[in-house]
Amino acid sequence: MSTNPFATALAQLHRAASILHLKRDILTQLEKPMRTVEINIPVRMDNGRTRMFTGYRVQYNNARGPFKGGIRFHPAVNMDEVKALGFWMTIKCATVGIPFGGSKGGVAVHPQKLSTKELERLSRGWARGMYPVIGPDKDVPAPDVYTNPTIMGWMVDEYSNIAGKKTPAAFTGKPLALGGLRGREDSTAQGGVFIIQEVVKKLHLVPSQTRVVVQGFGNVGYHTARLLYAAGYKIVALSDSRGGILSINGQSMDPDVVMKTKREKGMIDGCYCLGTVCDCVNFKKITNSELLTTSCDILIPAALEHQITGANARRIKAKVVVEMANGPTAPGADAILYRRRIPVVPDVLANAGGVTGSYFEWVQNKEKSRWSQAKTLKKLRPLMLASFNDMWRISRKHKVDLRTGAYVLALKRIALAMGK
Ligand code: NAD
Repeated sequence: MSTNPFATALAQLHRAASILHLKRDILTQLEKPMRTVEINIPVRMDNGRTRMFTGYRVQYNNARGPFKGGIRFHPAVNMDEVKALGFWMTIKCATVGIPFGGSKGGVAVHPQKLSTKELERLSRGWARGMYPVIGPDKDVPAPDVYTNPTIMGWMVDEYSNIAGKKTPAAFTGKPLALGGLRGREDSTAQGGVFIIQEVVKKLHLVPSQTRVVVQGFGNVGYHTARLLYAAGYKIVALSDSRGGILSINGQSMDPDVVMKTKREKGMIDGCYCLGTVCDCVNFKKITNSELLTTSCDILIPAALEHQITGANARRIKAKVVVEMANGPTAPGADAILYRRRIPVVPDVLANAGGVTGSYFEWVQNKEKSRWSQAKTLKKLRPLMLASFNDMWRISRKHKVDLRTGAYVLALKRIALAMGK
């Protein structure tokens, strides 16, 4: 089985296209991104030398509106990964019905190894290099893995300097002081929690007895675990890139206590944590692969792609998988889980609260207004639930998995916008 995420994305596209009998000319266009951009970013390092970094942007499809998608800073970033992520953004925006197309960007870098000044020069360099192809009505970037509001702040400042005017709508996920949205930081998690509450009802689970395992303890994993813990769910295992922790007596672990312990080792200039969830002493240490096969009710991958594969799908012991990460389940694993009657709530819906929050931020910036957190939540919930119900109905109607149901919903909307 290929571990190329773009091959995964195309396999998912073809499966839904065949159910929908999607016209061949639409399918042909969706098999390739509209534009790929690769830039070389010179960065002056603190030792006075210049180092080159490769930056990417994939503008996958804009039939439904301006391109929209995050920027990832990670050593494994490459064009195929960014293409897959851009494709998934296209499907995601259509699944929740917000007026955006899909894109994604990144830099191949180990950001924790840079100083804050180097990170700022790299971030500004990406915005400068991409300036000709991005903008509020063309392509609007946002944070993704190892990027955050501080980085968006540098980028929007660089963009505004070149444009010669403040242009907050050019980026989303910004700090509040620069036009960010109240509630954007945890909107991905909040959207996922709205969906989880619906799934729990469908599966007749009781929240206080529902055991949750979360892989990844960054923006998405931490906030999802925090919100579920606050809603009374039992958080029994957590992990980050350095390993995982498992509750010894089945008691719920408080994600805020875990985060506090992780942060005690300090932060790299306020951006990256030096500690790990494994610094917590009261739990059993486990590996990330053990975490994925831990017995639980809800398994939430919230880190990177291709975590559930043909190799471990038969050993997954969850009642439902909720994909808060992008692309965590390989197609072979999807088929195994479907046969085992373990529903997989797909990334294109489960984590779409993030891009929906970004859409609200963009609207707020365009209308030069300030939304309250209450307004954000009030708008987010019905949008997520309507898409969830549509996806559920379509997957039942066609007797297909939830991912295919979501893709059918999204592809219909994209095809309509393409005039077919
Ligand atoms: P982040 O950088 O805030 O956190 C990433 C987390 O994953 C960290 O805890 C890191 O230690 C952990 N991690 C990295 N490699 C790992 C590995 N091999 N095994 C286990 N854990 C590992 O990133 P994030 O914004 O939380 O993004 C996580 C996922 O959610 C990504 O797939 C991203 O594309 C997706 N996503 C993010 C948003 C958003 O708003 N930030 C929106 C939609 C989807």
